[in-house]
Amino acid sequence: MIISKFGGTSVADAAAIERTTGIVRGRLARRPVVVVSALAGVTNALLGIARQASEGNFISAVSSVQALRERHLVEVEALLATSDEHNEIGAEVSVIFDELASLCEALSVLGFITPRSLDAIAGMGERASSMLIAAAFRARGIDAVHVDARKVMITDANFGRAEPQADAIAIAARRLVAPLVHDGKVPVMGGYIGSSMDGITTTLGRGGSDYSASLVGAALQAESIEIWTDVDGMLTADPRIVPTARPIEQIRFDEASELASFGAKVLHPATIAPAVRLGIPVWIYNSRNPGAHGTRITFDAPRRAVTAIAAKRETTILRVATGKMLFQHGFLRRVFELFDEHAVSVDVVATSEVSVSVTVDDSAPLDVLVGALRQIGDVSVERRRAIVSVVGSGIADDADAMGTVLRALGHRRINMLSLSASAINLTILLDDADVPDAMRALHAALFEAPAA
Ligand code: ADP
Ligand code: ASP
Ligand code: MG
Repeated sequence: MIISKFGGTSVADAAAIERTTGIVRGRLARRPVVVVSALAGVTNALLGIARQASEGNFISAVSSVQALRERHLVEVEALLATSDEHNEIGAEVSVIFDELASLCEALSVLGFITPRSLDAIAGMGERASSMLIAAAFRARGIDAVHVDARKVMITDANFGRAEPQADAIAIAARRLVAPLVHDGKVPVMGGYIGSSMDGITTTLGRGGSDYSASLVGAALQAESIEIWTDVDGMLTADPRIVPTARPIEQIRFDEASELASFGAKVLHPATIAPAVRLGIPVWIYNSRNPGAHGTRITFDAPRRAVTAIAAKRETTILRVATGKMLFQHGFLRRVFELFDEHAVSVDVVATSEVSVSVTVDDSAPLDVLVGALRQIGDVSVERRRAIVSVVGSGIADDADAMGTVLRALGHRRINMLSLSASAINLTILLDDADVPDAMRALHAALFEAPAA
């Protein structure tokens, strides 16, 4: 059994869903379980609608709901015109948008939105897409069965970023998904959505469909997990910044995980963990170019000094300095306790004799935390920074590679530098404005330099 997950662009419209159908048909012998995202752009549109409604713009929210409904019904028309399920699926999709319209009405009266209602809305894209795609598969001769992902993906009630409950998911997947596969059917479920123990809809955080796929893969002990997207695999850099980025045929789990955590959007950062636990290989493929090799993520990919680079924008550096106390017992503990108490998560840390520097997301709520940190030292806050990661399992042993990196950065200001303890990520804090140029310069020096 394999898990095949198709992202938004792979199910964007009827033409993309046709391609996806072909890919799934070609894999039937491997008994696929299919996980799908919302049609491209739909989750953003839903979140926009939720905001409009809760700000009291009921009329514009409802017209956006209508536009989304139309978009889905156009695809129902295109995909199911000759199917006897045409009317039924059209009606079921419409029910989701009726539900959305009534939620909008309630929100516009209330004038605010709770994380719980936001998840109810955010998850509608996957509810609709999974139903539509299962029917499209059936209309094309694949024996597909829609599975409501909320019955399988059991999570805690941390709306917006719910924590999956692996044991409950394993039980549900074995009860609701595995028997379908054994009967020769193709289960189709939405990614990203789940439900709390008491049945309330939750989501796993943006981009979470990849994570859904790996959780289901682990629960069913799949032989591989495939992530189908719109690029030829994991690339040596973000192709939107570095057009010369090229696909990586094989990459190690830890490298892929590090890249995903530090900005490589192609994979949700949590995707790797469930696969690593069971050693299930993860593949990244291009649904627009299914013949390409793709990227295989495993334990045994070759060690390289540098495998890829990534950038995480919108980062803030906090520096806490104290002349006297840094190396005194308990200082760092106190600093990190404050981050913990204020629920602010830290990405990169570097210390010097008199200060500790940490990076956090620009969006992190810092006011109160900074006030508290000021009780223990001088605090400076530097916004509009970016974390540039040079990732390779052999980087620490390769002085040439490190030299190349620093030379390629030239005169650009380096605000912080760190080599992670596992020594696979040379992390450099730059000014955010320098990122595009710096990434291109790094890529050229690391991957495009003529062989000596
Ligand atoms: P999907 O909707 O299929 O989940 P995403 O938009 O979430 O797709 O992720 C794919 C996108 O990730 C690519 O189109 C690419 O622009 C971006 N990306 C950023 N960094 C990388 C990288 N290192 N390798 C491949 N793609 C990357
Ligand atoms: N549709 C969700 C999002 O846009 C989940 C995903 O596509 O992975 O964030
Ligand atoms: Mg994605």
